[in-house]
Amino acid sequence: MTAPDGPRDVIIVGAGPAGLAAAIAAREAGLDYEVLEKGALVNSIFRFPRAMVFFTTAELLEIGGLPFVTPYEKPTQAEALKYYRRVADAFGLNVRLELEVRSVARGAGGTFLRLETRAEGGEAGTRTARAVVLATGYYDNPNRLDVPGEDLPHVSHYYTESHGFYRKDVVVVGGKNSAAIAALDLYRGGARVTLVHRRERIADSVKYWIRPDIENRIKDGAIQVRFLTRVVEIRAGSVLVERDGMAEEIPADAVLLLTGYHPDVDLFRGAGVRVDAVSCIPEHDPETLETNVAGVYLAGAVVSGKETGRIFIENGRFHGEAVVTAIRRRLASFTTEAQRTQRLAMVRTLRLFAHECAATHDPILEFSVSSVPLW
Ligand SMILES: Cc1cc2nc3c(=O)[nH]c(=O)nc-3n(C[C@H](O)[C@H](O)[C@H](O)COP(=O)(O)OP(=O)(O)OC[C@H]3O[C@@H](n4cnc5c(N)ncnc54)[C@H](O)[C@@H]3O)c2cc1C
Repeated sequence: MTAPDGPRDVIIVGAGPAGLAAAIAAREAGLDYEVLEKGALVNSIFRFPRAMVFFTTAELLEIGGLPFVTPYEKPTQAEALKYYRRVADAFGLNVRLELEVRSVARGAGGTFLRLETRAEGGEAGTRTARAVVLATGYYDNPNRLDVPGEDLPHVSHYYTESHGFYRKDVVVVGGKNSAAIAALDLYRGGARVTLVHRRERIADSVKYWIRPDIENRIKDGAIQVRFLTRVVEIRAGSVLVERDGMAEEIPADAVLLLTGYHPDVDLFRGAGVRVDAVSCIPEHDPETLETNVAGVYLAGAVVSGKETGRIFIENGRFHGEAVVTAIRRRLASFTTEAQRTQRLAMVRTLRLFAHECAATHDPILEFSVSSVPLW
């Protein structure tokens, strides 16, 4: 499908599970929709660790009622990628990949929204829509430590696989699921791992089957740990940390800063959406998920801002239906307004015609001004 000249009913930003669920709902409702995705389909899941296993059973990751079949209790990353590709194909979803939405603003006249886009090759463009659903997740925006050396080439806020770290010193910073999973995987892949965490122990939120594993590897010394320790600086070949005023330099060929993520608040604020400075939660109606900007809606993980442990695929997948119900209501009021404008224009033309008839003493004069109904 190509982009139409006029505004679409709805543009969905982000082809994660929530964006795809919203697209299915829009399609079922007969809306003219398009999904714009800056990366690959389900780009966040695509960038998750290769060896990851979802903590959710397959049926809770399903969207559009399409069964997610796996021989395992919990699906792998590869299976999830395959499943969501199948969803996009089965529903014939209109998804434009590698097109980033750079801004959302009210279009001229105020009845539609205008999106500035940029394609993978750098080409800029625009799209218009009567409603926009922001389903942009959080995975693109890591919580930075803001320490010197954070942007050095051997530092990353993402972990994908262990092989490249074989026989290397790796410092993993963080104490939640991502850090624990990476530390274990790296250790099993032959890396020498030191976990640095600012708290006194591994977070309680770590999954029940990962927790004993990481705790026992720490206990038996297979994984080194520094609790109640903060990173001061990252250098080529080491990480400078501090605990109770005591500095230590830990050798590091690679540094993984797995300290969480947050939504792209700039995109929201640029659209006029008010975002809480602490929680990063965009202001919205909890039922319709419409933000304080009329016609701009939320879906998926963005709803919970920085509290990324509150909305998962298993609950964010239902946002699409709620949002599309609200959008349909909005579009219905638009239609009424558009019809009214059209009728008034027709009345004006007919009245003009009647006046002209009267002025020229045309026999059609019988057709009087008052016979033109006002709807
Ligand atoms: C390691 C890990 C394991 C997890 N395991 C589970 C699990 O077992 N079960 C579970 O339910 N949840 C799990 N989660 C959480 C789950 O992945 C997220 O809650 C889910 O991906 C959120 O879906 P979403 O569609 O809201 O956002 P995302 O999946 O993040 O999708 C957002 C999409 O928007 C795109 N995008 C962003 N900005 C733009 C833009 N400006 N223009 C165009 N496109 C844009 C992104 O590229 C991305 O594809 C896990 C998370 C992690 C990190």
